[in-house]
Amino acid sequence: MACKNKTNEPTKIIAIDGPAGSGKSTVAKALAKKFGLLYIDTGAMYRALTLKAVQKKIDLNNEEALAKLAQEVNIQLNMHAELLQVMLDGEDVTRAIRKQSLTEKVASVAKVALVRTEMVKLQRKLAQQAKGAVLEGRDIGTVVFPNAKYKFYLDAQAAKRIKRRFKELESKGEQVEVGDVAEDITRRDQSDMTRGVAPLAQAKDAIYIDTTTLSVKEVVEKISRKCSI
Ligand code: C5P
Repeated sequence: MACKNKTNEPTKIIAIDGPAGSGKSTVAKALAKKFGLLYIDTGAMYRALTLKAVQKKIDLNNEEALAKLAQEVNIQLNMHAELLQVMLDGEDVTRAIRKQSLTEKVASVAKVALVRTEMVKLQRKLAQQAKGAVLEGRDIGTVVFPNAKYKFYLDAQAAKRIKRRFKELESKGEQVEVGDVAEDITRRDQSDMTRGVAPLAQAKDAIYIDTTTLSVKEVVEKISRKCSI
């Protein structure tokens, strides 16, 4: 159950990685609740940082400026009932970071090595302070907590992932076309999987779960059976 961190304290970590629309967020949130662990949505951090860069009109190709911003920015994740509130330098950006127009820009920021160094530092700190967490993202099992005992890689057929993402955006009142969502998911996955630093990949010791035909409850049960926390 315990995974030793750098300070040698036992930290209960459940690492969940996978492409967009694979069901990571809903499942990770449910697992955190079930096991009484902190939920860390690492994608929300990259989204918040990207929003800050846009607000400050920083050129998204300027890696130096993005790295500096990552060191300065204050990102907080607060769980309120079932809702994750994302605070960016004191501003509630929970809704703003989910907009399709912002989502399209995140991959350019997330591929910057020094940006990732800062984000990973923050993710480890939050998990260690809480003495355990369910983290979801793209590099949790490979980079953030490579020694985590519980690692899962969620995946689903592309058509299903597009449908889920479209529904999610629709439920948030976004006016989007299925074709645009499909294009975004394809482009993002391609960029996340092929970037030079911390590309999206299944850790060698991660359990692969195809969620195409599974309900959230079924995925949560599958994972829970493997975790003795
Ligand atoms: O998970 P979510 O779709 O919110 O992530 C948005 C983007 O943030 C991803 O497409 C990816 O570019 C980036 N990301 C990342 N590493 C993580 C989590 C997210 O590069 N651990």
